[in-house]
Amino acid sequence: MEINPYEVAKKQLAIVAKEINLDPNIHERLKYCQRILTVSIPIIMDNGSLQMFEGHRVHHSLVKGPGKGGIRYSKNVNLNEVKALAMWMTWKTSLLKLPLGGAKGGIKVDVKKLSKAELERLTRRYTVEIINFIGPDKDIPAPDMNTDSQTMAWLMDVYSMHKGVTVPGVVTGKPVEIGGSLGRSTATGTGLFFIAEAICLKMGLNLSEMTVAIQGFGKVGKVIAEKLYNIGCKIIAISDSSAILYSEDGININELMQWKDKYKEIKDYKKNSVQNISNMDFFKLKCDILIPAATENQITKENAEEIDCKIILEGANGPTTPDADEILKNKGITVVPDILANSGGVLVSYFEYIQDINAYFWDLERINKELKRVLLKAFEDVYTLSQERKVTLRMAAYVLAVSGVAEAIKLRGHYP
Ligand code: GLU
Repeated sequence: MEINPYEVAKKQLAIVAKEINLDPNIHERLKYCQRILTVSIPIIMDNGSLQMFEGHRVHHSLVKGPGKGGIRYSKNVNLNEVKALAMWMTWKTSLLKLPLGGAKGGIKVDVKKLSKAELERLTRRYTVEIINFIGPDKDIPAPDMNTDSQTMAWLMDVYSMHKGVTVPGVVTGKPVEIGGSLGRSTATGTGLFFIAEAICLKMGLNLSEMTVAIQGFGKVGKVIAEKLYNIGCKIIAISDSSAILYSEDGININELMQWKDKYKEIKDYKKNSVQNISNMDFFKLKCDILIPAATENQITKENAEEIDCKIILEGANGPTTPDADEILKNKGITVVPDILANSGGVLVSYFEYIQDINAYFWDLERINKELKRVLLKAFEDVYTLSQERKVTLRMAAYVLAVSGVAEAIKLRGHYP
């Protein structure tokens, strides 16, 4: 049965609400997204025909500041997914104590079927349709699945043309030439690596000796795979949308990256002992660290029981359902939750946002230093609370994140 991500997000909220005795009025309010915009996007395709696409932009909570969150292009995009992702952004920005809210956008589209020119027209028209919903002090989009710095450049261009002035601060994840930040494109994977180091240290494990299985070879999966491979980890499995590769001896990630650049997908990469395996077998692999870095609802009650690892590091948003969480807890598997593990992306987005405001840009050393400092502080807070309350890292992260938003709501009071 299809799992509705928004129901999952609300269930997670309900679990933490109980844990912290959340004021029922505040709980009620947080179940809802503050604003939801659905738009239809008419595009003239390269062959002259007209095709309609559906897009969304959702603000879950703006109580702490402008909405913040990516825009996703995928054939699986639907409103419930975007609402869940927006809620998760509220928790993520709150956990990092950023003066931002939670938002998300998406277009239901199979990017593989569109030319670059069609994708550009799609992005530009979507931007026009949501133009009154976004802005540097309203809601600041960023890249997500299947969108990148080029997508953000088009978005920023349309917004700026309509305003009559260049407005770099309307998006983050832009190319550096037009106000983007150094280190933004690799920030989520880099942050994930810092968190991997931190959790291994706590657990008395040597990260460079770990065997790792990674689901996803996109912006997040690729970066973490490369970093772990280069310090000596054995990457026994990795997947993209075309296939899941497995090798008992470990996969040469540097070679696989070149392959992916050349052939766009990894399915025909067959070196040494590398073979293709099924999704079901992927989640049964014995490894030290499992990194879901693709999409939501991947670890469910159907496969959680068979997972055989020490640590799950959530590179994706919402990869584990609450049912699965319970099973993993009972199995003694440490799950480092998405809102902490993958928050390096939005953190460097925040750095980009403040660099744009100040029109003063930092060097990469400063970006990475600040990224590490803020992430490790959040990690320590979450870890310490999980020890004190004897709860999972997810529960601890949610306690901090939801309490932060609840406090802001309380302080602002009820309008009218
Ligand atoms: N799409 C990323 C995320 O899920 C980044 C969002 C942002 O930078 O605003 O966290």
